[in-house]
Amino acid sequence: LALATNGKASGRTLIVGSTGFIGRFVAEACLDSGRPTYLLVRSGSPPSPSKAQTIHTLRNKGATILTGTIADQKLMEKIMEEHKIEVVISAVGGTSILDQLRLVQAIKAVGTIKRFLPSEFGHDIDRTDPVEPGLQMYNEKREVRRAIEKAGIPYTYICCNSIAAWPYHDNTHPADVLPPLDRFHIYGDGNVKAYFVAGSDIGKFTLKVVDDNRTINKSVHFRPENNLFSINELASLWEKKIKRSLPRITITEEDLLSAANEMRIPESIVASFTHDIFIQGCQINFALDKPTDLEATSLYPDTQFRSVDECFDEFVSKVIEDHVMNSKPTNSEGLKIAKPTVRSEGFVITLS
Ligand code: NDP
Repeated sequence: LALATNGKASGRTLIVGSTGFIGRFVAEACLDSGRPTYLLVRSGSPPSPSKAQTIHTLRNKGATILTGTIADQKLMEKIMEEHKIEVVISAVGGTSILDQLRLVQAIKAVGTIKRFLPSEFGHDIDRTDPVEPGLQMYNEKREVRRAIEKAGIPYTYICCNSIAAWPYHDNTHPADVLPPLDRFHIYGDGNVKAYFVAGSDIGKFTLKVVDDNRTINKSVHFRPENNLFSINELASLWEKKIKRSLPRITITEEDLLSAANEMRIPESIVASFTHDIFIQGCQINFALDKPTDLEATSLYPDTQFRSVDECFDEFVSKVIEDHVMNSKPTNSEGLKIAKPTVRSEGFVITLS
């Protein structure tokens, strides 16, 4: 780990996709680590207010904002050379995976990048075959992997598994949406387990990995044992938090396959991954037995992952916050219920 005189990490890092869901966590963690942080932001149509706010916040935390697209190889070469970039982390979304082929060529041409992390942040895509349309995204991610390996660029693949949130089968970014307050959708028999990792931990452990010589040309799997839950267990945990039982509706394997088959993008992609995770067990049906496999809790035994329990506590706070925001200030009942009890459409949370 390169340390500057102030004790902070010093590798100059370029992050692509920081206005996105995963990229924001990575950018925050990069800035927290004290590394000189450069964020590539696409120009063109004006960003949405929330993206503009994200850029503003990250700039205020010390990020240098650069404009452009990774599809422009010459520009990427110029940026990496001018700013003496040492590490590149890409978190481009599912529709831009192949844009990274140009970035790989730029990294190869520059020749000074010590580590490249392509946009992975999910499953080990060489080990599982979701149904379409998820498979197409995996094929594209595989193409990028092969290009990196062929170019001889030092890399790490982050296989962080699921985000710690309710795994809706029809929503791209589950952590943007609170767990249900009306009923649970349970996939299959609800007993297949998966690893749930807090978004902030995806950022934090990704930044540990980039400085770690042990992780060069390896896949790092995030498998915190305490965060291994079936959807039945997740439902019970949420019920405990909200102190109420909710009805459970079974979504069968056939239901998920037909949702995938509808080819509605991105919903059908999420349905195909939900099928892969909760029916096929794609996160748990293989051992980490390749020489290229590493596991995050073994690499960093002194650093704890946030528990799903803690993440769900945060969701309860958000439910309350949302309720208070949506309450009229003149409604005395609304103000009263902000502390310590929330009522919403007959739904009650009493804070302990
Ligand atoms: P988003 O769609 O939320 O964000 C994508 C980001 O990439 C945006 O900032 C976008 O910029 C930027 N971008 C896209 N194309 C380019 C380009 N050509 N040049 C520069 N910037 C570009 O992505 P996600 O966070 O959903 O996905 C990131 C990765 O994480 C993917 O590999 C995805 O599969 C994975 N993932 C994993 C999840 C999990 O549960 N494990 C959940 C969600 C995603 P702009 O603002 O201009 O569009």
